[in-house]
Amino acid sequence: MRDYLKFYIDGRWVDPAEPKTAEVINPATEQVAGRISLGSAADVDRAVAAARRAFAGWSQTTREQRLDLLGAIQAEYAKRQTELGDAIIEEMGAPSGLAHGFHVGLGAGHLQTAIEVLRDFVFDERHGDTIVAKEPIGVCALITPWNWPMNQTCVKIFPALATGCTMILKPPQLAPFSAQILAEILDKAGVPAGVFNMVQGSGAVIGTALSTHDDVDMVSFTGSEPVGVQIQKDAATTVKRVGLELGGKSAFIVLDDDALAANVAGATAGMMGNSGQTCSAGSRLLVPASRLDEAVAAAKAAAEAVTVGDPTGAVAMGPVVSKGQYNIIQDYIRKGLEEGATLVAGGPGRPDGLDRGWFVKPTVFVGTNDMVIAREEIFGPVLVIIAYDDIDHAVEIANDTNFGLAGYVNGTDLKQVRAVARRMRTGWISMNGGFDFHAPFGGYKRSGNGREWGPHGFLEYLETKSLLGYGAD
Ligand code: NAP
Ligand code: MG
Repeated sequence: MRDYLKFYIDGRWVDPAEPKTAEVINPATEQVAGRISLGSAADVDRAVAAARRAFAGWSQTTREQRLDLLGAIQAEYAKRQTELGDAIIEEMGAPSGLAHGFHVGLGAGHLQTAIEVLRDFVFDERHGDTIVAKEPIGVCALITPWNWPMNQTCVKIFPALATGCTMILKPPQLAPFSAQILAEILDKAGVPAGVFNMVQGSGAVIGTALSTHDDVDMVSFTGSEPVGVQIQKDAATTVKRVGLELGGKSAFIVLDDDALAANVAGATAGMMGNSGQTCSAGSRLLVPASRLDEAVAAAKAAAEAVTVGDPTGAVAMGPVVSKGQYNIIQDYIRKGLEEGATLVAGGPGRPDGLDRGWFVKPTVFVGTNDMVIAREEIFGPVLVIIAYDDIDHAVEIANDTNFGLAGYVNGTDLKQVRAVARRMRTGWISMNGGFDFHAPFGGYKRSGNGREWGPHGFLEYLETKSLLGYGAD
């Protein structure tokens, strides 16, 4: 049982203004795994005031001072990796290998990337007699979801720190444990008082208090589209900058070549990773119609090979995060059957032998792009295979969506892979598994307006100042 009842404000662990707690449920056991405090607007006011006071000093630190601090954080993060992984297993059900591996590794990767970017980042650009300076935007509210807890927090906190901003983190109620450990890491590493603050609680209370706050300069949000829209409205009256990283319904295009079966298998296994709870998941698998049978056979075999069960063990897939998400996913699976999609693997209900915990069967449908299961983000281990006639058709299907977060193209002819990727209307495309911490990540269309990761992630936290008549150096 974890009792995380204090908030981190102004460099100290403090009690909430009013005592109120919530239980955190382990989705694999349905048992209470711990408690957190639910904060109020008074806690937000305290945290924002601390961040404002700290901004005066932190915004004036040198690149070297900030690099030193990020280095100290890196040393503390390395010591707590096992604890972070264990917390992620308990709070959101990621299987051990994934939690201790990629989940914790993504956080470390964003920290290392922030250090590398900060070393050479150009804050001042000279244009003749003018300097265009990039300066920290100020006090930032960081509002994060539960699906990749360390990725989502670290991709915001480290660029914000590196650029000289101060911040208030609002972690998700469903997965608040790893954020608490991260706050301990930042405290131990010597982050100056008020530079980083954390208040736990509900989005409706803490999130709204931050988005509407007079003294918050920007909000960086990752989560669902409706909440993103609400935050933008709430932030409008104080003219805050709002960075949004929302959902997706990304296409994975497999080209017609010798690698088709292997690529389909890889895409299917990839979709089931993290129980499908990934905003950039390739949830629509586009395959050539002439080879549909072969693709379906490969996807079926890959989905049925995914081991599901107790996430503390050596399984490929744990539960989904909560009863609420389980029910939403079950509704989509039923909807797919009702609207006439062909079930290839998985289907309704829990996997055999698992009668406790929010476990979902790795599910594969063959459908069409007009079906609800192909249009809405399911956020679960549900893949929809869609057949295309030719490359133009594949691109048309890929782009026929409200979202534009990610895309995938796999094939042996790199020239063709590149040409297809160029035509897809999304912010981030992985060709044959390409991955890069320095490349910007963010969405076109309703997938958002921000760009995180690498140097582009720094720009989210920077204002632009023109200094005219600057004179010679
Ligand atoms: P969400 O409801 O958008 O929540 C994300 C964060 O925003 C949480 O910390 C949440 O607080 C907070 N929040 C909620 N209402 C708010 C408000 N009015 N103002 C400010 N902050 C607010 O997402 P979710 O509940 O975690 O997941 C729901 C759906 O969102 C998923 O099914 C999926 O479709 C999508 N999603 C997308 C991503 C992505 O990376 N693109 C990630 C996660 C989820 P609470 O702690 O109260 O929830
Ligand atoms: Mg929610």
